Amino acid sequence: MMAQEDLEVKEEEGSKMEIDVKNKHGNELVLIIRDSDVSFANAIRRICIMEVPKLAIEDVNIIKNESAMFDEVLAHRLGLVPIFSDSDSVETLLLPEECDCDDYCPKCSVSLILRKQGPGVVYTKDLNSEDPHIKPVHDTIPLLKLGEDQEVELEAIAQLGIGLNHAKWEPTTACAYNYYPLITIDENCLNCQKCVEACPRGVLDFDEKDEQVNVVDIENCSMCKSCIRACDNQNINVSYVEGDFIFTIETDGSMPPEEVLSKACDILSEKADKIITFCEGG
Ligand SMILES: [Zn+2]
Repeated sequence: MMAQEDLEVKEEEGSKMEIDVKNKHGNELVLIIRDSDVSFANAIRRICIMEVPKLAIEDVNIIKNESAMFDEVLAHRLGLVPIFSDSDSVETLLLPEECDCDDYCPKCSVSLILRKQGPGVVYTKDLNSEDPHIKPVHDTIPLLKLGEDQEVELEAIAQLGIGLNHAKWEPTTACAYNYYPLITIDENCLNCQKCVEACPRGVLDFDEKDEQVNVVDIENCSMCKSCIRACDNQNINVSYVEGDFIFTIETDGSMPPEEVLSKACDILSEKADKIITFCEGG
């Protein structure tokens, strides 16, 4: 009975979780998550990196490669090229394990053709995709250099996959969270301002009017504790707010960070459903 009551309380507490967007700039999204816990933030972080599917080149059929670059090096470079994988681009594509073909087919793959004659540098813009929505995110990634009269001709096959199997399928280039910092300044503070000078990130400021040190940009605090070391009287302390996090997601441009987060939440929810079904069935 106790366990059931505990669960109910936990459910109520869980429902209070709040998420605010701190800033969104290009492919980077910074969120403030409040009233959550480490297990949830870490589960979302791990799913964002490892389990949200995106497209990457998996097979390369090299027909001609007269460049100085070895075939396998060229294939490896192609594999790491970020390719648009947002919902609009890949809505009809299947994951290879969901497809009934043996290797690859139009239901689970997209073909990109590269045909180029030297001299010159071959860029990602030279990859011609059979689907206009599915193409490299950037046009100017150099792939190889061709000398006079050298030719390259190949077919690259892009398929969906997850970061758990290979880093080329990771949609995020950075995905991490920090504890939400908490700075407390003691009443006995002598206002020597050494902490203000020591802070490398402008978190603290001395208010001339009130004649006291104030925390002016708490979310910029990296918890380096320079302020604690600078204070001769140990009147300042840096800790963190239990259950609050600053969560950063940055993608390689293959999909917007909001979409990575949304898909990660769906995957986590599916996993929870599976556990509930298993427990009820068992
Ligand atoms: Zn297939």
